[in-house]
Amino acid sequence: MRHTRSYPKVIRRWYRPVEHECLECHRTLREAVAVSRRTVITLAGVIKLNHAGYRCPDPQCPGSRRTYRSVEADALALPWFTYGLDIVLLVGRLRLREHQTVDEVHQELLKRLEPLGVTISRREILYLFEAYCTLLRASSEVKDDQEWLAQVEKNGGIIVSVDGIQPEKGNETVYLVRDALTGRVLAAENVTSSETAVMKALLAPVVALEVKVLGTITDAQESELKAVEQLWPKVPHQVCQFHALRDAAESAFEADRKVKTAMRKQLQPKVRAVRKQLKRDIPQAPGAEAEQLSVLDDYASGVLSALNRDGLAPFDFAAMHTAEDLDEVEASLQRLSKKGGL
Ligand SMILES: [Zn+2]
Repeated sequence: MRHTRSYPKVIRRWYRPVEHECLECHRTLREAVAVSRRTVITLAGVIKLNHAGYRCPDPQCPGSRRTYRSVEADALALPWFTYGLDIVLLVGRLRLREHQTVDEVHQELLKRLEPLGVTISRREILYLFEAYCTLLRASSEVKDDQEWLAQVEKNGGIIVSVDGIQPEKGNETVYLVRDALTGRVLAAENVTSSETAVMKALLAPVVALEVKVLGTITDAQESELKAVEQLWPKVPHQVCQFHALRDAAESAFEADRKVKTAMRKQLQPKVRAVRKQLKRDIPQAPGAEAEQLSVLDDYASGVLSALNRDGLAPFDFAAMHTAEDLDEVEASLQRLSKKGGL
């Protein structure tokens, strides 16, 4: 029986391709296969992922044998690796740039993973370093990968995806170029400049493959856009929605948090003062009035809990919940006053 490890904190995520319609007939793609269901350990958390592959629903369509995958899911980890690509890149950097020994890298990784309740063996560090070296050799190996080339033939070409990953704060970026249809890494390079010329050089091995490029997917970064536009001017291009959404949501989430804090600062002391007053008044009020006052106290307590609502990045906004709750309180108070209760 296979032993399944369990982790104290697991994030569940569902992934689907960025493409919504068939590149050939433009029908809406449908979920067709489970590409992978696995657990990936990243520096940011342990992710249990469900990666769904989509296909054209029309069996007559020349593109119907293609499976569209999620470039985001593929970017999390190399195939067959439980430890994420971010960890592979970190190991590579600590070894080669910071000249750390394997033991030092091991200690550093143990420290980084401890908050997640995850450990890592020294031997795993060696594997990950090997993976890093293999990754950087990807472009020289891909042209001889017959099995992969046969798959490309079946797909009718490749979809080039470019992804810049910044392993740590610094001026280095590891660029990964992959075929979004097979998930295969076509080129990977550690670069310090992201000029269009550098991007084009990065993509040169892909051009040299001389396979049909069906589409391109990049971040919104201008140099990446220009490079794919210049290399494949007639090929449809898509900005990765995930990156765009994540970046957009980050500032929105931050703004929402500020709004909520401001609301709470303004309202909380007032409502608390009212409750204090009510607590003093209720015991002294005659029966019916005491009942009314305790209804008001319920409302005040409702307002206070509305002010303590939490959000969850990226799209669950706290201030929105607070506003909705407060609207409900207001509507209820209005109904009450119409009935002549207050
Ligand atoms: Zn189709």
